[in-house]
Amino acid sequence: MPESHAKPAAEVEPPTRGSAPTFATALCCIDGRVQGPLADFVRTRFGVDYVDTVTRPGLVGRLDSGVEADLAISIEAHQSQGIVVSGHAGCAGYSGEESAQRDACRAAAARLGELWGEMEIVPVWVALSGAVEPL
Ligand SMILES: [Zn+2]
Repeated sequence: MPESHAKPAAEVEPPTRGSAPTFATALCCIDGRVQGPLADFVRTRFGVDYVDTVTRPGLVGRLDSGVEADLAISIEAHQSQGIVVSGHAGCAGYSGEESAQRDACRAAAARLGELWGEMEIVPVWVALSGAVEPL
């Protein structure tokens, strides 16, 4: 029987590594439907213990100096191992069409690459099913 309402692995099992905990960073919407699946994706994608999260409603349409400053804290203070920038289906914070939000997500990843070229930056799309699709 599948477990429902299972907590993310990092909450159930504390990291057991002897060294400092590792982080990656998710940029995403405020929408609570997508944050859990996205955090699971980021944790697996970069093999890290924790996921820092920067949120704005419809974030890929609002990438500004405030978002970049928030992201910088994660990168500098936690030595983030990588960045995932995301858009999602059914977004209340993005006014355009879904195809435009996907384009904005790719553009946001490119913009962040100009600022943090040494980091791996992965644009993704999150379906309301929780499926995460690299763009
Ligand atoms: Zn949204």
